[in-house]
Amino acid sequence: MADKKKILFVDRDGTLILEPEDCQVDSIAKLKFYPNAISMMARIAKELDYMLVMVTNQDGLGTASYPQKAFDEVQGLMLEILGSVGIEFDAFHVDRSFPNENSPNRKPRIGMLTSYLNGEYDIENSFVIGDRITDVEMAKNIGCKAIWINDGSNLGGDEISSKVHALAEYVALETHSWEKIYEFLRFGQRRAAAKRTTNETDIDLDLNLDGNGRASIDTGIGFLNHILELFTKHSGIDLKLTVKGDLHVDEHHSVEDAAIVLGEAFTKALGNKAGIERYAFYLPMDESSATILLDFGGRTDLEWNVSFKREKIGDLPTELIKHFFKSFAEGARCNLHVTAQGENEHHIVEGIFKGLAKAVKDAIRRDISKVSNEIPSTKGVV
Ligand SMILES: [Mg+2]
Repeated sequence: MADKKKILFVDRDGTLILEPEDCQVDSIAKLKFYPNAISMMARIAKELDYMLVMVTNQDGLGTASYPQKAFDEVQGLMLEILGSVGIEFDAFHVDRSFPNENSPNRKPRIGMLTSYLNGEYDIENSFVIGDRITDVEMAKNIGCKAIWINDGSNLGGDEISSKVHALAEYVALETHSWEKIYEFLRFGQRRAAAKRTTNETDIDLDLNLDGNGRASIDTGIGFLNHILELFTKHSGIDLKLTVKGDLHVDEHHSVEDAAIVLGEAFTKALGNKAGIERYAFYLPMDESSATILLDFGGRTDLEWNVSFKREKIGDLPTELIKHFFKSFAEGARCNLHVTAQGENEHHIVEGIFKGLAKAVKDAIRRDISKVSNEIPSTKGVV
């Protein structure tokens, strides 16, 4: 069977072009493009295999408050500019009703899009790209996922917040960056989930290397939660981690197994590592300094040059911090050199984890300026 065509259902206002305060782009003076929308859409059009379909609500188009001519002028110039860099839409669907008319064609409803649902298109791997929660809702109605451009401008209000929660599973990517959209469409997301149960620990983990720095962490050890939250925040990785360990024995198994499962999830999520930077180093913070050298090259080693005088920081034994890094390095099959010194040991540990976060962030970064996705090794495998 011939490959079915995938579709990008692209919103216009707030997505390709900026939406003014009065929500109506009815003059050339109001035509401003969303940052990097042109350059990234050009690469999407040229390099990736999607049909481009524009779907937009233009409230009251054709009435006295929004003459057709005003729309045509803006739309014409916009398409001319997009066309000049090779962005050609295959179809346009413009709904011109007001919200209170409840038109079956108005987003999030899909009255104008039924012809795409006849089985001839690869809807499952298609996406809606839009800036409103109604765009996400439209993706749900189509049967695909949404790339939600959320710059915060269309958020606020309990009604929308509860909708966001209800529609979360239909959001494939939430971002305010067109570069991230391109990266996502080209490479996909690097995710891994793990459940692991032993006599000592019960672990549930969900990792997204291309996330937004969101953490939901409960290891039963307050200070470990804190430093892993720092890690996610500064690496831009999303991490959900629950550890139910034998803390009545001591903290050892919980820390060790959390690090192993996290490291293994890294290995899984990184996949063949095509296009990544692979190496990174970092040196931060305050009166303390931490140096992290990192190579996701497939071999495991830990060089550890940190010593602690305190037995515990919060509820975390300091001896387990080295053990965490060792277990992580084994799971993630990476080479880690950690050197840190300072006076305040709380700061030292924070510095190490922030340094790890920044090093990881650099090492897993995919360079979208390159057109080919090379494996970062002369051996062709890492
Ligand atoms: Mg919009």
